[in-house]
Amino acid sequence: MATPQPTDRELIERWVGEPAPVLPLLNAFQARDGYVCDDAIEAIARALSIPLAELAATVSFYHHFHRSPPGTATPRVCDGPVCRMRGSDALLGIGGTGEGPGAAPMPCAGRCDTAIPVLTDGALAEEPGPLPPVNPGNHEECVFAAIREPGRRAIDGYRATGGYGALTRAGEELGAEGLLQVVADSTLAGRGGAAFPTAAKWRAVRDASVASGSDGKVIVCNADEGEPGCFKDRAILEHDPHAVIEGMALAALATGATLGFIYLRYEYPGIEAILERAIEEAKAAGLLDEFRLLVRRGGGSYVCGEEGALLESLEGRRPFPRNRPPYPVTHGFENRPTVVNNVETLASVPPIVLRGAEWYRSLGLGDHSGTKVVSVSGDINRPGNYEVPLGLPLRTLLEEWCDGAPDGRPIAAVTMAGLSGGFLAGAGLEVTIDETSIRAEGSFLGAGGMIVLDETRDPLAFTREAIEFFAEESCGKCFPCRLGTERLRERLTGESGPTDADQWTDQVRGVCETMKATSACGLGTAAPLVVESLLNHYPGRVERHVNKNGKTQRAAPRQ
Ligand code: SF4
Repeated sequence: MATPQPTDRELIERWVGEPAPVLPLLNAFQARDGYVCDDAIEAIARALSIPLAELAATVSFYHHFHRSPPGTATPRVCDGPVCRMRGSDALLGIGGTGEGPGAAPMPCAGRCDTAIPVLTDGALAEEPGPLPPVNPGNHEECVFAAIREPGRRAIDGYRATGGYGALTRAGEELGAEGLLQVVADSTLAGRGGAAFPTAAKWRAVRDASVASGSDGKVIVCNADEGEPGCFKDRAILEHDPHAVIEGMALAALATGATLGFIYLRYEYPGIEAILERAIEEAKAAGLLDEFRLLVRRGGGSYVCGEEGALLESLEGRRPFPRNRPPYPVTHGFENRPTVVNNVETLASVPPIVLRGAEWYRSLGLGDHSGTKVVSVSGDINRPGNYEVPLGLPLRTLLEEWCDGAPDGRPIAAVTMAGLSGGFLAGAGLEVTIDETSIRAEGSFLGAGGMIVLDETRDPLAFTREAIEFFAEESCGKCFPCRLGTERLRERLTGESGPTDADQWTDQVRGVCETMKATSACGLGTAAPLVVESLLNHYPGRVERHVNKNGKTQRAAPRQ
């Protein structure tokens, strides 16, 4: 017998009065009906006193909230750069190469190390993904040190391998000040891309005052891993959810926060249940008595990875990045002092607290401290998530840990920070994996996504698809990004632009410079880097493109 479906009223009553109710309400209606109908939007708007037009505009912003049937019944096939390299166009029927009718594309679903993901009825067939490969260099790990232990996902297994020992140590021995000092001494910095010192952020929230009568401080785990080519947070959440919960509980202890959210991207549906189960286990064990922890699933939007946009999304508004200052540490969720930390950052804290700041610093090579999880995909024999000591030569990772490109082909280029850091090529591939070394090449490590292109790939087609992605994901709030991504897209497709290669290059560089100098958030400042990589490393390919007036192939094909 079919399970009775909740009524509109039951759904509304379940969520009204809860913190951040808009996203769960939209997801609940869509889960029930397959889409969010006009009546649902009206009911939610009325119940939460949101102007109807405002809520409708918010819903339309997201990739995955459907407004009409067949809604979620339409399969969504990953159309990210790595899946395109692996042939997702055929599944989508693009170019007449496959069946594809009825399938629709979706941005990178964070499974660049698995089969091409297909999302049907809001769920994926294959979850969880693979465990991180063991590194062949025998380098000691922090985040992944215990992730492969059997049973680690459940609280008993987590505890059996040292889990929640850091929370005990912090509560009984260190206290908030001692905890902040350990994190400060470790030099841990944000692992989502911004690399802001974690302890400084926590201390700012601890020191921030809360207006009398208002609610307390907040910890937000940014699990909106939308950067193409990045899938490390997925692995941590799937296989080690209690590490993230313990990291959040430690952040709450250090700052005095009483409320926490894990903002989970829509494209990780199976992880929602994993997190809910883990939170229930932690609550039952009395570990979250003074810290309420909730999961909120997004609706599919790359820009929500930006912390201001994420907070707007949590609050139920259209997720435009916020102007700064003020910063979230004083005016975050509902204007409350808020820590926003990445999944990997939070999962790094328990081992650091247990084993000490000096131990963590010693994991890096040379002058570098600690480790970074990187996601390697594309033309590589062993794709996956690897926790590398900072300072490891990129060549060692690619050739020894990941076994190089298929069929022994030379590696021509490797993206950094997913797509956001552009790509390294030529002598740039001799960097070590750390911000200083990579920034010297005009790129940045960011969240650690690395997409490998062997010598048979067309760098111009890859760059064009990257810019098409950024143009699609630009929220449109500021014109340098809104117009700049479009102007770059038009020039890379050959729709418009000078027909002289030197003029074309000067104009494109000018657009890139303007975007970098004046865009309001990281999307607009980072998007030009991939174009600059193309100009710097492949001027001959640019010249051929301009001379052919943009008659290039669509997908990142082999040359
Ligand atoms: Fe929106 Fe782009 Fe401006 Fe960021 S840079 S606020 S994504 S338009």
